[in-house]
Amino acid sequence: MKKVGFIGLGAMGLPMAQNVLKQGFELNAMQHRNPDPIRVLETQGAQVCSSVEEVIRNSDVVISILPTDKEMNEVLLSEDVIDTFQKNAILIEMTSGSPDAIKNLHRVYQEQGIRVLDAPVSGGTVGAEKGALTVMAGGDQSTLNDVEDVINAMAQNVYLVGEVGAGNAIKAINQMLAGIHMIATSEAISLANELEVDTNILKEVIGNSSGASWMLMNKLDSIVDEQFEPGFKLPLMKKDVQIAVDEGRASVLPLASLALQLYKSAEKENSELDFAAISKSIIR
Ligand code: NDP
Repeated sequence: MKKVGFIGLGAMGLPMAQNVLKQGFELNAMQHRNPDPIRVLETQGAQVCSSVEEVIRNSDVVISILPTDKEMNEVLLSEDVIDTFQKNAILIEMTSGSPDAIKNLHRVYQEQGIRVLDAPVSGGTVGAEKGALTVMAGGDQSTLNDVEDVINAMAQNVYLVGEVGAGNAIKAINQMLAGIHMIATSEAISLANELEVDTNILKEVIGNSSGASWMLMNKLDSIVDEQFEPGFKLPLMKKDVQIAVDEGRASVLPLASLALQLYKSAEKENSELDFAAISKSIIR
Protein backbone atom coordinates (compact mmCIF):
# COMPACT_ATOMS: atom_id res chain seq x y z
CA MET A 1 0.00 0.00 0.00
CA LYS A 2 1.27 3.51 -0.80
CA LYS A 3 2.48 5.83 1.93
CA VAL A 4 0.61 9.13 1.63
CA GLY A 5 1.69 12.47 3.10
CA PHE A 6 -0.99 15.07 3.81
CA ILE A 7 -0.34 18.83 4.18
CA GLY A 8 -3.29 21.11 5.09
CA LEU A 9 -5.75 19.60 7.55
CA GLY A 10 -8.54 22.18 7.41
CA ALA A 11 -12.24 22.00 6.61
CA MET A 12 -11.40 19.99 3.46
CA GLY A 13 -8.05 18.39 4.26
CA LEU A 14 -9.07 16.64 7.47
CA PRO A 15 -12.04 14.68 6.06
CA MET A 16 -10.06 13.93 2.87
CA ALA A 17 -7.15 12.59 4.93
CA GLN A 18 -9.58 10.48 6.99
CA ASN A 19 -10.89 8.90 3.79
CA VAL A 20 -7.34 8.13 2.64
CA LEU A 21 -6.73 6.39 5.98
CA LYS A 22 -10.03 4.49 5.74
CA GLN A 23 -8.95 3.01 2.40
CA GLY A 24 -5.93 1.44 4.13
CA PHE A 25 -3.15 3.80 3.01
CA GLU A 26 -0.45 4.72 5.52
CA LEU A 27 -0.90 8.42 6.28
CA ASN A 28 1.79 10.86 7.40
CA ALA A 29 0.66 14.28 8.61
CA MET A 30 1.65 17.09 10.95
CA GLN A 31 0.22 19.88 13.02
CA HIS A 32 0.36 23.43 11.71
CA ARG A 33 -1.23 25.81 14.27
CA ASN A 34 -4.45 24.05 15.24
CA PRO A 35 -3.67 20.81 17.14
CA ASP A 36 -7.17 19.27 16.79
CA PRO A 37 -6.97 17.71 13.30
CA ILE A 38 -3.75 15.81 13.95
CA ARG A 39 -5.16 14.50 17.24
CA VAL A 40 -8.17 13.12 15.35
CA LEU A 41 -5.96 11.53 12.68
CA GLU A 42 -3.59 10.04 15.25
CA THR A 43 -6.46 8.20 16.96
CA GLN A 44 -7.35 6.78 13.53
CA GLY A 45 -3.83 5.46 12.91
CA ALA A 46 -1.96 8.30 11.16
CA GLN A 47 1.79 8.72 11.70
CA VAL A 48 2.45 12.10 13.32
CA CYS A 49 5.41 13.97 11.83
CA SER A 50 7.12 17.05 13.20
CA SER A 51 7.79 18.89 9.93
CA VAL A 52 6.76 19.10 6.28
CA GLU A 53 10.12 17.55 5.40
CA GLU A 54 9.37 14.52 7.60
CA VAL A 55 5.95 14.13 5.98
CA ILE A 56 7.59 14.13 2.54
CA ARG A 57 10.48 11.85 3.52
CA ASN A 58 8.08 9.19 4.82
CA SER A 59 5.70 9.27 1.81
CA ASP A 60 5.53 8.01 -1.79
CA VAL A 61 2.78 10.48 -2.65
CA VAL A 62 2.19 13.89 -1.05
CA ILE A 63 -1.17 15.67 -1.08
CA SER A 64 -1.44 19.37 -0.24
CA ILE A 65 -4.61 21.40 0.18
CA LEU A 66 -3.75 24.83 1.56
CA PRO A 67 -5.78 28.07 1.60
CA THR A 68 -4.17 30.07 -1.22
CA ASP A 69 -1.18 30.36 -3.60
CA LYS A 70 0.67 32.20 -0.82
CA GLU A 71 0.70 29.24 1.60
CA MET A 72 1.29 26.78 -1.26
CA ASN A 73 4.38 28.71 -2.33
CA GLU A 74 5.62 29.23 1.24
CA VAL A 75 5.36 25.53 2.05
CA LEU A 76 6.21 23.84 -1.23
CA LEU A 77 8.74 26.16 -2.85
CA SER A 78 11.12 26.11 0.12
CA GLU A 79 14.48 24.70 -0.97
CA ASP A 80 14.63 22.25 1.94
CA VAL A 81 11.19 20.91 1.06
CA ILE A 82 12.03 20.47 -2.62
CA ASP A 83 15.32 18.73 -1.76
CA THR A 84 13.45 16.26 0.47
CA PHE A 85 11.31 14.83 -2.35
CA GLN A 86 12.73 11.71 -3.95
CA LYS A 87 13.12 11.67 -7.73
CA ASN A 88 9.87 10.57 -9.41
CA ALA A 89 7.81 11.23 -6.25
CA ILE A 90 4.35 12.68 -6.90
CA LEU A 91 2.81 15.83 -5.44
CA ILE A 92 -0.99 16.02 -5.79
CA GLU A 93 -1.62 19.74 -5.31
CA MET A 94 -5.31 20.29 -4.46
CA THR A 95 -5.31 23.94 -3.32
CA SER A 96 -7.67 26.18 -5.34
CA GLY A 97 -5.12 28.61 -6.68
CA SER A 98 -4.19 30.46 -9.84
CA PRO A 99 -3.15 28.53 -12.96
CA ASP A 100 0.07 30.58 -13.10
CA ALA A 101 1.12 29.63 -9.55
CA ILE A 102 0.72 25.88 -10.10
CA LYS A 103 2.46 26.11 -13.49
CA ASN A 104 5.40 27.86 -11.82
CA LEU A 105 5.57 25.23 -9.06
CA HIS A 106 5.41 22.49 -11.70
CA ARG A 107 8.31 24.04 -13.63
CA VAL A 108 10.49 24.12 -10.49
CA TYR A 109 9.53 20.56 -9.49
CA GLN A 110 10.02 19.19 -13.01
CA GLU A 111 13.62 20.43 -12.96
CA GLN A 112 14.14 18.26 -9.86
CA GLY A 113 12.39 15.22 -11.38
CA ILE A 114 9.34 15.50 -9.10
CA ARG A 115 5.97 14.84 -10.73
CA VAL A 116 3.05 17.22 -10.08
CA LEU A 117 -0.68 16.82 -10.54
CA ASP A 118 -2.73 20.03 -10.43
CA ALA A 119 -5.90 18.71 -8.77
CA PRO A 120 -8.32 21.24 -7.24
CA VAL A 121 -11.61 19.87 -5.99
CA SER A 122 -15.30 20.74 -5.81
CA GLY A 123 -18.02 19.31 -3.60
CA GLY A 124 -17.52 21.18 -0.34
CA THR A 125 -17.03 19.73 3.10
CA VAL A 126 -19.97 17.37 2.61
CA GLY A 127 -18.35 15.95 -0.53
CA ALA A 128 -15.03 15.71 1.32
CA GLU A 129 -16.65 13.78 4.20
CA LYS A 130 -18.43 11.39 1.84
CA GLY A 131 -15.37 10.82 -0.35
CA ALA A 132 -17.49 12.18 -3.19
CA LEU A 133 -15.46 15.12 -4.49
CA THR A 134 -15.02 16.14 -8.10
CA VAL A 135 -11.35 16.44 -9.05
CA MET A 136 -10.27 18.66 -11.96
CA ALA A 137 -6.85 17.28 -12.73
CA GLY A 138 -4.14 18.84 -14.88
CA GLY A 139 -1.04 16.82 -15.70
CA ASP A 140 0.12 13.61 -17.38
CA GLN A 141 -2.19 10.63 -17.77
CA SER A 142 0.61 8.38 -16.46
CA THR A 143 0.98 10.48 -13.29
CA LEU A 144 -2.76 10.36 -12.74
CA ASN A 145 -2.77 6.58 -13.32
CA ASP A 146 -0.07 6.17 -10.66
CA VAL A 147 -2.12 7.94 -7.96
CA GLU A 148 -5.67 7.15 -9.06
CA ASP A 149 -6.13 4.74 -6.13
CA VAL A 150 -5.32 7.53 -3.67
CA ILE A 151 -7.53 10.08 -5.44
CA ASN A 152 -10.39 7.58 -5.62
CA ALA A 153 -10.34 7.40 -1.81
CA MET A 154 -11.48 11.05 -1.81
CA ALA A 155 -13.38 11.54 -5.05
CA GLN A 156 -16.33 10.28 -7.04
CA ASN A 157 -15.57 12.12 -10.30
CA VAL A 158 -12.03 12.50 -11.60
CA TYR A 159 -11.47 14.45 -14.83
CA LEU A 160 -8.11 14.88 -16.53
CA VAL A 161 -8.72 18.25 -18.20
CA GLY A 162 -5.32 19.09 -19.71
CA GLU A 163 -1.80 19.97 -18.64
CA VAL A 164 -0.80 21.32 -15.24
CA GLY A 165 -2.69 24.64 -14.85
CA ALA A 166 -5.80 23.39 -16.65
CA GLY A 167 -7.28 22.02 -13.40
CA ASN A 168 -7.08 25.39 -11.72
CA ALA A 169 -8.37 27.13 -14.87
CA ILE A 170 -11.60 25.09 -14.75
CA LYS A 171 -11.77 25.52 -10.98
CA ALA A 172 -11.56 29.34 -11.40
CA ILE A 173 -14.49 29.24 -13.83
CA ASN A 174 -16.49 27.01 -11.46
CA GLN A 175 -15.82 29.39 -8.58
CA MET A 176 -16.75 32.44 -10.64
CA LEU A 177 -20.13 30.80 -11.33
CA ALA A 178 -20.57 29.62 -7.74
CA GLY A 179 -19.74 33.06 -6.35
CA ILE A 180 -22.19 34.79 -8.70
CA HIS A 181 -24.91 32.17 -8.13
CA MET A 182 -24.68 32.67 -4.35
CA ILE A 183 -25.31 36.40 -4.81
CA ALA A 184 -28.12 35.68 -7.30
CA THR A 185 -29.73 33.30 -4.78
CA SER A 186 -29.53 36.01 -2.10
CA GLU A 187 -31.22 38.47 -4.46
CA ALA A 188 -33.95 35.92 -5.21
CA ILE A 189 -34.67 35.56 -1.47
CA SER A 190 -34.65 39.34 -1.04
CA LEU A 191 -37.21 39.75 -3.81
CA ALA A 192 -39.29 36.85 -2.46
CA ASN A 193 -39.44 38.59 0.92
CA GLU A 194 -40.61 41.82 -0.65
CA LEU A 195 -43.22 40.05 -2.79
CA GLU A 196 -44.33 37.91 0.19
CA VAL A 197 -43.44 34.66 -1.57
CA ASP A 198 -42.83 31.70 0.76
CA THR A 199 -39.22 30.61 0.21
CA ASN A 200 -40.10 26.90 0.53
CA ILE A 201 -42.58 27.27 -2.33
CA LEU A 202 -40.03 29.36 -4.25
CA LYS A 203 -37.44 26.58 -3.95
CA GLU A 204 -39.87 23.86 -4.99
CA VAL A 205 -41.24 25.70 -8.03
CA ILE A 206 -37.96 27.18 -9.26
CA GLY A 207 -36.34 23.79 -8.68
CA ASN A 208 -38.46 22.65 -11.63
CA SER A 209 -38.01 25.85 -13.64
CA SER A 210 -35.35 27.58 -15.71
CA GLY A 211 -34.07 29.84 -12.90
CA ALA A 212 -32.82 26.93 -10.78
CA SER A 213 -29.17 26.63 -9.76
CA TRP A 214 -27.17 24.36 -7.45
CA MET A 215 -26.81 27.30 -5.03
CA LEU A 216 -30.54 27.99 -4.95
CA MET A 217 -31.35 24.35 -4.29
CA ASN A 218 -28.59 23.71 -1.73
CA LYS A 219 -27.96 27.04 -0.01
CA LEU A 220 -31.38 28.75 0.15
CA ASP A 221 -32.28 27.13 3.48
CA SER A 222 -29.01 28.16 5.18
CA ILE A 223 -29.46 31.73 3.95
CA VAL A 224 -33.09 31.91 5.14
CA ASP A 225 -32.12 30.39 8.53
CA GLU A 226 -29.00 32.58 8.73
CA GLN A 227 -26.81 29.49 9.27
CA PHE A 228 -23.37 30.66 8.29
CA GLU A 229 -21.08 28.11 9.95
CA PRO A 230 -18.31 27.31 7.45
CA GLY A 231 -18.22 25.32 5.15
CA PHE A 232 -16.35 27.38 2.75
CA LYS A 233 -15.16 30.60 4.31
CA LEU A 234 -16.07 33.87 2.61
CA PRO A 235 -12.44 35.04 2.16
CA LEU A 236 -11.72 31.83 0.21
CA MET A 237 -14.56 32.66 -2.20
CA LYS A 238 -13.24 36.22 -2.54
CA LYS A 239 -9.83 34.71 -3.38
CA ASP A 240 -11.39 32.47 -6.05
CA VAL A 241 -13.45 35.24 -7.71
CA GLN A 242 -10.30 37.41 -7.64
CA ILE A 243 -8.43 34.64 -9.51
CA ALA A 244 -11.18 34.51 -12.16
CA VAL A 245 -11.16 38.30 -12.61
CA ASP A 246 -7.34 38.42 -12.74
CA GLU A 247 -7.17 35.55 -15.24
CA GLY A 248 -9.89 37.13 -17.35
CA ARG A 249 -8.06 40.40 -18.00
CA ALA A 250 -8.94 40.29 -21.70
CA SER A 251 -12.51 39.09 -21.13
CA VAL A 252 -15.64 41.05 -20.35
CA LEU A 253 -16.68 39.85 -16.89
CA PRO A 254 -19.07 42.46 -15.48
CA LEU A 255 -20.84 40.09 -13.07
CA ALA A 256 -17.61 38.57 -11.76
CA SER A 257 -16.17 42.06 -11.22
CA LEU A 258 -19.25 43.15 -9.30
CA ALA A 259 -19.28 39.92 -7.29
CA LEU A 260 -15.63 40.52 -6.40
CA GLN A 261 -16.47 44.00 -5.07
CA LEU A 262 -19.28 42.57 -2.94
CA TYR A 263 -17.12 39.75 -1.50
CA LYS A 264 -14.30 42.22 -0.83
CA SER A 265 -16.52 44.59 1.12
CA ALA A 266 -18.12 41.72 3.09
CA GLU A 267 -14.80 39.98 3.82
CA LYS A 268 -13.69 41.80 6.96
CA GLU A 269 -16.89 41.40 8.96
CA ASN A 270 -17.44 37.79 7.84
CA SER A 271 -13.95 36.34 7.67
CA GLU A 272 -14.83 33.26 9.75
CA LEU A 273 -18.27 32.68 8.20
CA ASP A 274 -19.42 30.63 5.23
CA PHE A 275 -19.56 32.54 1.94
CA ALA A 276 -23.39 32.34 2.17
CA ALA A 277 -22.95 35.26 4.62
CA ILE A 278 -22.63 37.48 1.53
CA SER A 279 -26.46 37.40 1.72
CA LYS A 280 -26.27 39.70 4.76
CA SER A 281 -25.18 42.51 2.41
CA ILE A 282 -28.22 41.90 0.21
CA ILE A 283 -31.20 40.76 2.28
CA ARG A 284 -32.58 43.52 4.52
P1 NDP B 1 -9.10 25.89 5.84
O1 NDP B 1 -8.74 27.31 6.12
O2 NDP B 1 -10.19 25.25 6.60
O3 NDP B 1 -7.79 24.96 6.04
C1 NDP B 1 -6.51 25.32 5.63
C2 NDP B 1 -5.53 24.35 6.25
O4 NDP B 1 -4.21 24.70 5.83
C3 NDP B 1 -5.51 24.39 7.78
O5 NDP B 1 -5.36 23.07 8.25
C4 NDP B 1 -4.24 25.19 8.09
O6 NDP B 1 -3.69 24.87 9.36
C5 NDP B 1 -3.36 24.69 6.97
N1 NDP B 1 -2.22 25.55 6.73
C6 NDP B 1 -2.22 26.88 6.48
N2 NDP B 1 -0.96 27.32 6.31
C7 NDP B 1 -0.16 26.22 6.47
C8 NDP B 1 1.24 26.02 6.44
N3 NDP B 1 2.06 27.05 6.22
N4 NDP B 1 1.72 24.77 6.65
C9 NDP B 1 0.89 23.73 6.87
N5 NDP B 1 -0.46 23.86 6.92
C10 NDP B 1 -0.96 25.09 6.73
O7 NDP B 1 -9.36 25.82 4.28
P2 NDP B 1 -10.25 24.75 3.47
O8 NDP B 1 -9.86 23.38 3.89
O9 NDP B 1 -11.66 25.19 3.50
O10 NDP B 1 -9.74 25.04 1.98
C11 NDP B 1 -8.47 24.56 1.51
C12 NDP B 1 -8.44 24.79 -0.01
O11 NDP B 1 -9.49 24.04 -0.61
C13 NDP B 1 -8.65 26.26 -0.42
O12 NDP B 1 -7.86 26.55 -1.53
C14 NDP B 1 -10.13 26.30 -0.78
O13 NDP B 1 -10.41 27.34 -1.69
C15 NDP B 1 -10.34 24.91 -1.37
N6 NDP B 1 -11.70 24.38 -1.30
C16 NDP B 1 -12.46 24.53 -0.15
C17 NDP B 1 -13.75 24.02 -0.10
C18 NDP B 1 -14.61 24.15 1.12
O14 NDP B 1 -15.83 23.87 1.03
N7 NDP B 1 -14.09 24.53 2.28
C19 NDP B 1 -14.34 23.34 -1.28
C20 NDP B 1 -13.44 23.17 -2.38
C21 NDP B 1 -12.18 23.71 -2.39
P3 NDP B 1 -4.03 25.77 10.66
O15 NDP B 1 -5.54 25.84 10.72
O16 NDP B 1 -3.42 25.00 11.77
O17 NDP B 1 -3.41 27.10 10.39
